[in-house]
Amino acid sequence: MKAMLKGLFLCLTMHAFAQHRDLDLVLGKKAPELINNMQVEVYEAFDRMRAAAAKKGIEIKVVSAYRSYNRQREIWNTKYKAFTQEGLEPKNAIKKIITYSTLPGTSRHHWGTDIDIIDNANPQPGDVLLTEKFYDNGPSSALRDWMNDNAATFGFFEVYTNSPNRKGFAHEPWHYTYRPLSKSYLEVLTTHALSEIAEDDQLLGRAFLDNEFFNTYTSAHILDINPILFAQE
Ligand SMILES: [Zn+2]
Repeated sequence: MKAMLKGLFLCLTMHAFAQHRDLDLVLGKKAPELINNMQVEVYEAFDRMRAAAAKKGIEIKVVSAYRSYNRQREIWNTKYKAFTQEGLEPKNAIKKIITYSTLPGTSRHHWGTDIDIIDNANPQPGDVLLTEKFYDNGPSSALRDWMNDNAATFGFFEVYTNSPNRKGFAHEPWHYTYRPLSKSYLEVLTTHALSEIAEDDQLLGRAFLDNEFFNTYTSAHILDINPILFAQE
């Protein structure tokens, strides 16, 4: 009996530890093992995809991959300061931040599974992550066409599609996720309350994040993404 209880206790502690560890990885508070800022499995799939694209004259360059919670908070706080100094009310400043940037702890870049890419085969003057650069004759348009046809073969999918009914983050033709891994990260994230994730004294505008914000942010920004990222295998 004693041994059984001990075994049960050990099992429960390990379970609690696993959950805790998973959450830290999901929130960007702990980094997974990374190669070139991607999880090992993601990098291996990426490298195969990069080689295939190179044969077609497309030079995939990663401009952003893994990003920590602290880095995301810096981005959030910098934008919050800038927008409120421009005269925006706090709630409107937050609305503007979440056009493209996430609430720290909820970025898919925390997972080491998501990448922002451009085509480095063409000259890329100025800001490289602009939607128009991925369309018409833009420097990353051939990359977008190629990814549309081939990315899924390597496990990569666009997250913030140009579907006209999609809410949440603006269309990001540069942002791809490695679905075989990111699917479970999204599941863990959605089981945790955003109000708890946002309990951070150093997060600017924290006082203006209310339940209404958390609810719409969850349904639009976290969940209104490419539906294939939820689909059962
Ligand atoms: Zn991105």
